[in-house]
Amino acid sequence: MAPFTTIGVGGAAALLLSLEDAAGLSEALSLLRVEGVPHTAVGAGSNLVVGDAGYRGVILKLGDGFHFIDEPVPHPSRVGGAASTHAPTDTGPSALSVVAGAGLHLPRLCSLLAGWGLGGLEFCCGIPGTLGGGVAMNAGAHGGELARVVEAVQVARGDGVHWLAADALEWGYRHCGLPPGAVVTAVRLRLQQTPEANIRALHRRYLQQRRQGQPRGARTFGSTFRNPPGESAGRLLDQAGMKGARHGGAEVSTVHANFIVNCGDARAADVLYLMSLMREAVYRKHEVLLEPEVRVLGARLPWETGA
Ligand SMILES: Cc1cc2nc3c(=O)[nH]c(=O)nc-3n(C[C@H](O)[C@H](O)[C@H](O)COP(=O)(O)OP(=O)(O)OC[C@H]3O[C@@H](n4cnc5c(N)ncnc54)[C@H](O)[C@@H]3O)c2cc1C
Repeated sequence: MAPFTTIGVGGAAALLLSLEDAAGLSEALSLLRVEGVPHTAVGAGSNLVVGDAGYRGVILKLGDGFHFIDEPVPHPSRVGGAASTHAPTDTGPSALSVVAGAGLHLPRLCSLLAGWGLGGLEFCCGIPGTLGGGVAMNAGAHGGELARVVEAVQVARGDGVHWLAADALEWGYRHCGLPPGAVVTAVRLRLQQTPEANIRALHRRYLQQRRQGQPRGARTFGSTFRNPPGESAGRLLDQAGMKGARHGGAEVSTVHANFIVNCGDARAADVLYLMSLMREAVYRKHEVLLEPEVRVLGARLPWETGA
């Protein structure tokens, strides 16, 4: 799985299935459920660490058929339809809805929307995940999060393909309460007509902030731990002296203490061990127990095994 994750570690999966449409994905999910085969969706693998022993199950990837974007249409509240109550401030006269495939990478989607003069998703321009993974994680940055832009989510399950209103999902910090086993296949976004130059200026500003505050060109999965309420995990880790800490081929970034970097030959075991060192250091210094933001597949976190 190493080539399918941004950190670049992890053993093999039993099978990787690339699907091209939501109905086919639903059929696959139905079969996997009937046969009792473990399976999981993987997007860009930008928030994922897979264990060295790999994953004894099926990885579901969204193929090119999920890289579409439909022409914008007026927001339902402008044509007499039911308006979402999720972000009532965004339903003014310039609001438009766009349906995009969940396999699209967020930076590419942001660039396409900029070309159409549609703003609202600028905060995602530097998040290297897919739209589906972004929804599953309620990805956010620069004060924005997907929960505030998503109007409805199309999911495939073993029992078919369904549209779910965003209001019906329980959103939280890096959390979207998708029904168990649901794979996001498309998303309806609520956007605002905005001059392209303004959107691109925001993109430049946000990308510049990332270049200054995050390791550049490094193999990483972004934030390792969630921010505790009212705190920054990166700041706590920095104060605990973790910048530059190393185990095997994994290192805590010297630029951002909440980022782990694969120095080239890291194994998942190095990454997971380093995570436990980081967590322990923060607990010793601040008596705060950090919770992981990164998703772990085919391995257990050291502190959950008692190691
Ligand atoms: C350099 C860098 C910077 C980052 N900056 C940010 C940031 O600013 N803000 C932020 O929130 N995150 C950030 N991340 C983390 C990551 O990019 C996001 O969490 C992103 O949304 C993950 O999307 P993905 O497609 O890579 O999901 P994956 O990592 O592939 O999967 C993550 C989880 O989502 C599930 N999933 C994936 N696709 C689907 C789907 N279609 N349907 C249902 N479930 C699915 C997976 O099963 C898994 O549980 C950063 C990562 C990196 C490497």
